[in-house]
Amino acid sequence: MLVRDLERDGGVKKKNDIHVSTGRFLFGILTLTALCAALIALVRTGNVTAAIVAGPLFTIPLISLGEWLVHGVLYHGHVPGLEFIRTIHHAGHHFALFPPKHYVQDGKYEFMRLKKPFQMSDNGVDNWLTKWSQVGLHFVVGIPLILVPAWLLTHSVAFGLSSLATLATVSWLLAYVHGVIHTPGDRLIEHMRWFQWLDRHHYIHHIDLGANINFLLPLCDVLFGTEKAQLTDEEAAKHPSFEQSKPMAKDIPSRAAEAA
Ligand SMILES: [Zn+2]
Ligand SMILES: [Zn+2]
Repeated sequence: MLVRDLERDGGVKKKNDIHVSTGRFLFGILTLTALCAALIALVRTGNVTAAIVAGPLFTIPLISLGEWLVHGVLYHGHVPGLEFIRTIHHAGHHFALFPPKHYVQDGKYEFMRLKKPFQMSDNGVDNWLTKWSQVGLHFVVGIPLILVPAWLLTHSVAFGLSSLATLATVSWLLAYVHGVIHTPGDRLIEHMRWFQWLDRHHYIHHIDLGANINFLLPLCDVLFGTEKAQLTDEEAAKHPSFEQSKPMAKDIPSRAAEAA
């Protein structure tokens, strides 16, 4: 399976492909299916506590699949009739607003303008629309992917509500954390290790658009083989380092202190 694209980057043709073999993709889907089937069997025992705990355990891996498909296929692929989504993310987010040499913005708002995706928002309404359209898109994808099977296979209210709460929370978190990554300030989460790891993980995606397709939950990157821990020597030579692109990242002073 190949989502192929050729982009012009500074006049030089550059490949931005997502490579996943059919076998690897099937392996990932079967692994997720086995995990979800085990959790459904647990919920069907009728234990309410187990159903509540199973909600996030069932929902989070499937949100990882949802965000992998939304980001890899809708945001970076060519889906007939939905090219505007690719324009917003692939052309707007990656190439116009946040290329590797300009990974951060320091304006008042975290998100681009929805109807003019080559500019950052300059008012609260545009910012709100872009943020909540991202939240809404991930939530809507989660309805057939997560909530409908969760209900039809168990008819458990506790499991359904637990899954719904997880999907709503993570859909919001996806948009919020991405906005924070590109508009650094001194927010609480910027001091957290998981955020700092995710920031460096996402920077690699801004250089290699075929890698680290998961933004928040990298499970499907691992399953499908698109996880990338570090840049190649060629990429590192061609692009600024993370430290150069984001010198204000909160883990940089602490890393320097650790090394001293
Ligand atoms: Zn980004
Ligand atoms: Zn992307």
